[in-house]
Amino acid sequence: MLEIDGAKGEGGGQVLRTALSLSMVTGTPFRISNIRANRENPGMMAQHLTAVKAAKAVSNARVEGMREGSTELTFEPGVIGNGRYFYSVGTAGSTSLVLQTVLPALMLAPGPSEITLEGGTHNPFAPPYDFLALTYLPALARMGPVVQASLERHGFYPAGGGRMKVQVQPVEELKGFELLERGDHVRTRARALVSNLSMTFAIRELDIIAQKLGLGAGDIHPESITGNDSAGNVVCIEVEHEQITEVFTAFGRRGITPEEFAEEALTESREYLASTAPVGRYLCDQLMLPLALAGGGRFRTVKPTRHAQTNAEVIAMFLPVDIQIARLEDGSFEVAIGPQPA
Ligand code: AMP
Repeated sequence: MLEIDGAKGEGGGQVLRTALSLSMVTGTPFRISNIRANRENPGMMAQHLTAVKAAKAVSNARVEGMREGSTELTFEPGVIGNGRYFYSVGTAGSTSLVLQTVLPALMLAPGPSEITLEGGTHNPFAPPYDFLALTYLPALARMGPVVQASLERHGFYPAGGGRMKVQVQPVEELKGFELLERGDHVRTRARALVSNLSMTFAIRELDIIAQKLGLGAGDIHPESITGNDSAGNVVCIEVEHEQITEVFTAFGRRGITPEEFAEEALTESREYLASTAPVGRYLCDQLMLPLALAGGGRFRTVKPTRHAQTNAEVIAMFLPVDIQIARLEDGSFEVAIGPQPA
């Protein structure tokens, strides 16, 4: 039984989610303590609990400590299954993070699956649906499995109430890949979504972004979201190159002006736009796990975050891989994942 200290490094929910994903796939049981010790509200919240429930169902696991607020969990996986799954987070907790927890197992399952998740689809500190669809899933597609997601309803923080459906066609083995260059720039688009708010917010936000990034009228898209009772405002800057599309998001909240909000979205994208690396800061920490499961891969990225460093440590506890992070002359970084040296 692996013993994991959840206070390690970043000390957030990712330590738990990565442990769950890798435990399911490798069959290694683990016990984790100090779950989310470095967060203001430590312990498992609704999103983490939903991830544990989904992981338990997909891998027929035996679990202790599965309750909200718990700072300890024991997880003993059984055999990975496949089929239809449905989970509702019950709050605006991120559906993408629940999905990412069970996706590695579903991508390597004995047959196809469909998973429907309800909760937040656009919440701060988590991958918004657009990042999942345009950045994360296309990166996984390079590894062999076919994963198709559809957004059935937006769920904004703090109300939640969103829904996504994901179909997974598994493979026997994941293929690693190298992603060292972006390729030519295809286009940059900015989208502003408003739900139960005036379109003038979206238009003002996009005007500023268009001016700062030099975007034309065809590259800005104000969108009014219907079918949702809650207020929401999200801005995504999508930077598309031949080899990769990266998505940078800002999440609106009460009291912030459209001008300040646009500035937040620009700040999110600035580091990536100033670099030539194909992989942005969020994708960097999220790519390590699938590439480690594939046995290896290499990518060039902007400066890895503490999430990335911590994730590398947790991954190395479960898999015999070596993850090297090296700074290159141009200021970008190369992450190389390969077998441990004998
Ligand atoms: P944690 O804070 O430990 O729960 O982990 C949060 C996860 O969400 C990490 O994998 C981050 O890369 C990811 N994440 C946070 N914000 C974004 C964002 N704006 N776009 C994409 N991924 C994000």
